[in-house]
Amino acid sequence: MGCIIFNRVASFCRKVLNRDSSTRVPEEQTLQVYQRPEHGISRKDISENALKVLYRLNKAGYDAYLVGGGVRDLLLHKQPKDFDIATNATPEEIKKLFRNCRLIGRRFRLAHILFGRDIIEVATFRGHHSDAPVQVVAPKDNKQKPQISSRSEEGMLLRDNVYGNIEEDAQRRDFTINALYYSVKDFTVTDYAQGIEDLNNRVVRLMGDPETRYREDPVRMLRAVRFAVKLDMDIEPVTAAPIRELASLMQDIPAARLFEESLKLLQSGQGLETYRMLREYNLFQQLFPILSDHFTENNSSKTEKMIEHILASTDKRIAEDKRVNPAFIYAAMLWYPMMIRAEEVSFASGLSFYDAFMVASNDILDEQVRSIAIPRRHTTTVRDIWQQQLRFSRRSGKRAFKTMEHPKFRAAYDFLEMRSLFEGSDIKELAQWWSEFQDADYNQRGQMVTHINDGGTRRPRRRRPQQQRRKKPQVKS
Ligand code: ATP
Ligand code: MG
Repeated sequence: MGCIIFNRVASFCRKVLNRDSSTRVPEEQTLQVYQRPEHGISRKDISENALKVLYRLNKAGYDAYLVGGGVRDLLLHKQPKDFDIATNATPEEIKKLFRNCRLIGRRFRLAHILFGRDIIEVATFRGHHSDAPVQVVAPKDNKQKPQISSRSEEGMLLRDNVYGNIEEDAQRRDFTINALYYSVKDFTVTDYAQGIEDLNNRVVRLMGDPETRYREDPVRMLRAVRFAVKLDMDIEPVTAAPIRELASLMQDIPAARLFEESLKLLQSGQGLETYRMLREYNLFQQLFPILSDHFTENNSSKTEKMIEHILASTDKRIAEDKRVNPAFIYAAMLWYPMMIRAEEVSFASGLSFYDAFMVASNDILDEQVRSIAIPRRHTTTVRDIWQQQLRFSRRSGKRAFKTMEHPKFRAAYDFLEMRSLFEGSDIKELAQWWSEFQDADYNQRGQMVTHINDGGTRRPRRRRPQQQRRKKPQVKS
C-alpha cells in the first residue's frame, strides 16, 4: 500500500517537476507541500516519544517538525534509526518545557529529550550566518544566551548557533533528501529543495555550493558516502566532484567527533561497501593513515585482506542481530601494521620480540588516536586481544589453563582463529590446538599440555637455601 502511495508521489513529482535532475541548479529551490495521501507517512510509523515531543511543542505555541533521516527513511519504507525534530523554540525554551531535557553540544547546541534509553534530538532552526570569523546575535530577552557562529580561516564552522526560520534551516541542512519536514499539525511533508525528487531518482545531492559546504563541515563528505551506501543511491556528480581534492580537510576535524563517525561508518551493517567507497574517495586514508601505508594497487596486502574480512564478518553479525565490538574491529584492522612495526623495532633496537611487540602496540595505538579518538576502554581491549596472541603459543604447565581464565579469552581466541585464515601453518595448528583444548575435559587438557614443548616449560622450583631448611627432628632412640 505504502509502496503504491510512494510510487504515486514519484509520478506526481515527475509530472509536477518534469525536469532532468542531473541538470538542476541546487540554489534553484522550489517549495513543494505534499498532503497526507500523497506521501503516505502515518503517525503510527513514528515513535511515541517523538510524537509526544512534537505535540508538546505545538501545544506550547511553537512550530515543530519531524525532519532529516526520520522523514527520509519513512518515505523509503525503511525503519528510521532515530527521530530528529526541528523547532523555532530556542534550547532554553525547550528545556523549560521538558523536565527530561538535557542541552548538549558547543559547536551545535541542541536539546536531548530523554525517555529512558530513547533519546529524541531537538534542534532549533538554524539561520544564515555571515562570512565573518565571528557572528554574535543579541538574545531576545535576558534569559536567553547570545547566539554565536564562528568559523576558522579555512571556512570551517567552529560554532553554528545562530537561529533562524524554517526556510533558512532547510538551506543549512546537508543534503536535499534530509531537508524534508513532516508536520503533525496538518500531516504535510514540506520539501524545500526537491528532496523527494532526489529520493525517487536515488541521488545524494548536497545543498548549495559543494566546496563551500564541505569546507564548512568536512564531515559532510563522510555523510555523502554513508548515505549513498546505506540508501543504495548515487552521489550526484557535482556533489562528488570536489571530494577527492578536499578529503584532507578531514584532518581538521576533532578526533573525538571522528570516533563517533567511524562507528556509524563501520557498524552500519554495510561496513565493507562503505570502506570501499571511502577509499575510492580518498577519505578512508584520512581516518586511518596507518592503514593506508599498507594499501596496494591490487588490494593484495595482508592488511587489506584483514580489513575486508573483518568488515564482511561485522556486516554479517549485524544482519544476524548479533553484538559487535568496535575494539575487535580496530584490533583486526591494525594487527598487521602493528606486527610489521614490531619486527622493525626489534630489528632496529635489538629488543626481544616480546618487548618490541609492546612498543609497537603503544606506538600504533598512539598514532591512531590522533585521527580517531578511540576511547581508552576500547584501546585497553585492543591491547588485551593483541597480548593474548603472544600467550597462546606458551601452553605448557599451567599456562594454557591461566590463558583461558583471562576475561578477554573468547575475543582473543576468535582473533587467533581469524588470523589463521591469513597466516602460515604454525598459526593454523595453534588455532586448531586451542579449539580442541576448549572442547576437552579436564583430564584430556592435562594430557594435551604435557605433550607441549613450546620453550615455556615450567621453571624448576627453586629450592630453599640449605641453611634455611628446617632440620628434621632427630628422634633419639
Ligand atoms: P541517520 O540518523 O539515519 O544516520 P540522519 O540524516 O537523520 O541520518 P543525523 O546525524 O541524525 O542524520 O542528523 C539529522 C539531520 O540533521 C540530517 O538529516 C540533516 O538534515 C542534519 N544534519 C546532520 N549533520 C549535518 C551536517 N554536518 N551538516 C548539515 N546538516 C546536518
Ligand atoms: Mg537521524
